[in-house]
Amino acid sequence: MLTTRFAPSPTGYLHLGHAAAALFAWRHAKETPSGQGGGRFLLRLEDIDPMRCTQAYADAICEDLTWLGLAWDGAIRTQSAHLPDYRAALDRLAARDLLYPCFCTRADIAREAARSAAAPHESPPNSAAAAPYPGTCRHLCASERAARLAAGHNHALRLDTARATAEATAIAGPLTYHERTEGRLACHPARFGDIVLARKDAPASYHLCVTHDDAFQGVTLVTRALDLKPATAIHRLLQTLLGWPEPHYAHHPILRGPDGKRLAKRDHATTLRDLRAAGATPAALLARAAIDLQAPFKPA
Ligand code: GLU
Repeated sequence: MLTTRFAPSPTGYLHLGHAAAALFAWRHAKETPSGQGGGRFLLRLEDIDPMRCTQAYADAICEDLTWLGLAWDGAIRTQSAHLPDYRAALDRLAARDLLYPCFCTRADIAREAARSAAAPHESPPNSAAAAPYPGTCRHLCASERAARLAAGHNHALRLDTARATAEATAIAGPLTYHERTEGRLACHPARFGDIVLARKDAPASYHLCVTHDDAFQGVTLVTRALDLKPATAIHRLLQTLLGWPEPHYAHHPILRGPDGKRLAKRDHATTLRDLRAAGATPAALLARAAIDLQAPFKPA
């Protein structure tokens, strides 16, 4: 059965961009004819960041989706309730020597990147656009690493992406993924450098949790905004290393405001509840949020 999901982080109220993402996933599931097995639409709350996520926002997400009429199937998966699952996946990668502790602060990384003339830029933790980590802690000798761990230095866990890619390629050949309107595309995980799989301030990262949960929940079509399309390379790498099934992908355009800028929680984009309070109906909002399911979408 075709299974899609909507996977917001409860760090703010939903806006029209979220409605578009949820509707895109919901329609892919619900418009799959029963003759083709039908579809399921799941809801997952990606709340592993304890500093930014709140129960009030999680409750509001459920309320807004219900008001829109985008009912989800089955139980909601709440990531913070499943931390041992992510730990177990990290342990499997660590046992193959594919992870290393990284003690660098943001300032260390910025300094190192500036030295190698690759200017770092601010970007969200799950963004594909972050400047790759310069690999400083990958070069620590075993005794230095052990001493810092023994001294309790705060650290993240990074994937040794080059080694991981070599291992995955040995398992499955060159990595590719299936984009719904484009067919098979090549994956280039190296451009991300050594990505963080467990953060200093959160026990797991977006890339690890999203890949784990899509496999665990039986998601067969991952739908999400085009800005995350490059991250698919990392997700295919993790799926291959961990023996998880490969979903198909359908990345959709990002809804923009009248100023042409992406609607974003941090810019206080008009929330669904504000629009509702101002008298908007679910039908009117869904009409504004509708994205043509069949159109081919490529990054601008
Ligand atoms: N929690 C992610 C976000 O809100 C979901 C990304 C995805 O669907 O993979 O951006």
